Amino acid sequence: MSTIAIVGGGVAGLGAAWQLALRDHDVHLFERHHIGDATSSRAGGMLAPVSEATFEERDLLELGLQSLEMYPRWVEQLTDATGMELDYRREGTLIVAVDRDDAEALERLRGYHERLDLPVERLVGDDIHHREPGLAPSIHYALFTPNDHQIDPAAMVRALGRAFVDAGGQLHEDSPVDSVIIDDDRTTGVRLDDDTEVDADIVVIAAGARTGDIGGIPDRILPHIRPVRGQMLSVELGDPPLIEHVIRAPDAYLVPKSDGRILIGSTMEERGFDPRPTAGGLFHILEGAREAVPGIDDAHVFDVWTGFRPVSLANKPIIGPTDIDGLFLSVGHGRGGILLTPATAHGLTACIDEGEAPDYLAPFLPG
Ligand SMILES: Cc1cc2nc3c(=O)[nH]c(=O)nc-3n(C[C@H](O)[C@H](O)[C@H](O)COP(=O)(O)OP(=O)(O)OC[C@H]3O[C@@H](n4cnc5c(N)ncnc54)[C@H](O)[C@@H]3O)c2cc1C
Repeated sequence: MSTIAIVGGGVAGLGAAWQLALRDHDVHLFERHHIGDATSSRAGGMLAPVSEATFEERDLLELGLQSLEMYPRWVEQLTDATGMELDYRREGTLIVAVDRDDAEALERLRGYHERLDLPVERLVGDDIHHREPGLAPSIHYALFTPNDHQIDPAAMVRALGRAFVDAGGQLHEDSPVDSVIIDDDRTTGVRLDDDTEVDADIVVIAAGARTGDIGGIPDRILPHIRPVRGQMLSVELGDPPLIEHVIRAPDAYLVPKSDGRILIGSTMEERGFDPRPTAGGLFHILEGAREAVPGIDDAHVFDVWTGFRPVSLANKPIIGPTDIDGLFLSVGHGRGGILLTPATAHGLTACIDEGEAPDYLAPFLPG
């Protein structure tokens, strides 16, 4: 049994913390504010490796598919452990074209999906509106990705926090970590902002977009992670619901939740850590959402927020051991950290507990 200090209470830190506590390690998770507040509870919750597949990111697609496959078991375990509802929904995703250019781009994407043998269905004309009556009548081309699911990310954060504590983990909120203590190329613990030193055999950095603020780690090891801001809002789903599926349009996505909201997102902006939503950002996503689902015009707005995707230079996560003995990273999950939660947690647990990374982590290991 090891004493493990995890820095960061988003999904990257919490998922691994829970799994490691289940294996009887003495796990302490340090979170500078409250779990999930920085990014993880602010996400859309789409689990959509196929819809998000891009021609250049084959490794990330494979990792996403691996994690998606783990999701049913992950949700079952977490629900059994906590009795909490995660709103895990499997209606699938519709990617819609709003003009001819989009339709051609989607047709190319479909070709790519088919080459990789990914499940995708092409829908045209009335078939689209039978599947999702809330879509604009002008939409004539769409792809249906049946395996791209969704979850409520804030609910998953709450459940992970509960499951971790119930498994014997120690959760320390309002406890910012100042630095990692490294002695002779081996980590011996962390120092908190109030100068308390906490001994640990293993330290995991899962500090999201603020990874760069953590002291004590040599530059050659600490990856550059930057915040990419996303603005979002939620509106009333309506009764009957305006939409049943996740809808991805060229300039916005809409994610219906069972608690009566539609989450609408999101911008990708390089604005540092400025948390203030802007009129232009919200206008852009609302316009894009209305183009696809005109019924949102009359929907009441519940809430508006921003979050910071932790993005690495290579635009992919970095997960696993570093060349400092006992120091592990789980950072840079970018726009897919909710999807990647189970693969990250199980992968990191295998690295720590069994001393070996699973094959699927090979392209994402530090260094
Ligand atoms: C608008 C938006 C929509 C998104 N939608 C989706 C989606 O639909 N599907 C999907 O898969 N992903 C989505 N994402 C991405 C996903 O939210 C992130 O990839 C994921 O939440 C990153 O998790 P994390 O644990 O690495 O980071 P975070 O959630 O940011 O957690 C890191 C934690 O570390 C803490 N911390 C930082 N420094 C310290 C310190 N020194 N001491 C102690 N604690 C510290 C922070 O306070 C924070 O709580 C979205 C992101 C945004 C912004």
